[in-house]
Amino acid sequence: MSATSTGPRQHAGRLQIGVAGAGFSGAVVARQLAEAGHRVSVFDPLPHVAGHCHTERDAETGVMVHRYGPHIFHTADVRVWEYVRRFADMVPYRHTVRTTVAGRVYPMPVNLTTINLLFGTELDPAGARALVEAQRESFTRPPVNFEEQALATVGRRLYEAFFRGYTAKQWGADPVDLPPSLFSRLPVRFTADDSYFDHPYQAIPRGGYTALVTALLDHPAVDVHLGHAYTPTLAEQFDHSIWTGPIDAWFGHSLGRLRYRTLDFEAERGEGVHQMCAVMNFGDRSVAHTRITEFKHFAAWEQHERSVWYREYSREAGPDDAPYYPVRLAGDEHLLDAYLELARASSGVTFVGRLATYKYIDMDVAIGAALQAAATIVTAIDTGRPIPPFTGTP
Ligand code: UDP
Repeated sequence: MSATSTGPRQHAGRLQIGVAGAGFSGAVVARQLAEAGHRVSVFDPLPHVAGHCHTERDAETGVMVHRYGPHIFHTADVRVWEYVRRFADMVPYRHTVRTTVAGRVYPMPVNLTTINLLFGTELDPAGARALVEAQRESFTRPPVNFEEQALATVGRRLYEAFFRGYTAKQWGADPVDLPPSLFSRLPVRFTADDSYFDHPYQAIPRGGYTALVTALLDHPAVDVHLGHAYTPTLAEQFDHSIWTGPIDAWFGHSLGRLRYRTLDFEAERGEGVHQMCAVMNFGDRSVAHTRITEFKHFAAWEQHERSVWYREYSREAGPDDAPYYPVRLAGDEHLLDAYLELARASSGVTFVGRLATYKYIDMDVAIGAALQAAATIVTAIDTGRPIPPFTGTP
């Protein structure tokens, strides 16, 4: 079967399913299909499971590191929360972030303390709200890009201090070319609450994400092949394929390459503790890195004399780089649309997850979407209907 050929060998009963990718999306779909009675083979080019959520113990310090950058599980979806708890002991964790701008440290996201520190005031919540309202810029239409959304929400001074430089470094783009939804990922608060996320469930798996994903894949009907890329040729051995890699890679980049950001990490080690919280952002454009993650803060239940932290740099992903973030710039939409069109016309394959749907989604959303995908696939098989290429809104 070629990537776009017709005719999945779909029949009632037990199917042989090939899953490309052993990250959360692939592992959840594999688990659910196996529990529904199908036989699943999972392939991943990486030498470990868990994709970019992979965690491992740092050999020198013993600290559990998030090898591809910080991952904090957080959700408001009780179903997803209960699901992950089947596979790991999720230790409650409250994520806090600070940002350094012009040599000063502020809480991030913007809260009452951030506002008072930046403006040199001692306002109460009502006073801070009034100050920010006076700073806001108004538009005659809804904001159409990141910068407008920021100016409409917090005004120019907060935007320039905390968002413009960081966003330009993270995305390698002018914030006027980025979507307003990106700004809306972060709350703005007029209280001293410095929690990074608003979600009621926030936790870190006690044994790390790799142990969690290993447990997901630990099923007699699932076999896992690491260091082994899935290809359309390999797909011929299976009745149906689940693709969780980059959508353009499934089609051999035949229409061109979609843009992704990749990350470089510089590890440093030392005694004791390096910084006051797990993640320190750097808002200044003149500082090349975007943030520093010190991993021991994620596992307060462990004791380590030494510490390890990663300085994180963002850049455009080249053909041989790991793609981390899909970049949805206004001008890139036509290429994505063309790939989505190809994907919608495909049979024998279902596209699931952050890279395969080219969406900037968090772990909990990816898990919820993978559960939905598996349920849709099982129903399609049971009712003899074709398995769709997408199971949510692509
Ligand atoms: N952001 C920013 N300044 C910050 C933190 C975040 O401008 O100090 C913006 C930036 O554009 C970033 C987006 O908000 O890409 C989302 O931040 P988040 O922490 O959710 O990013 P992630 O942890 O997924 O990289």
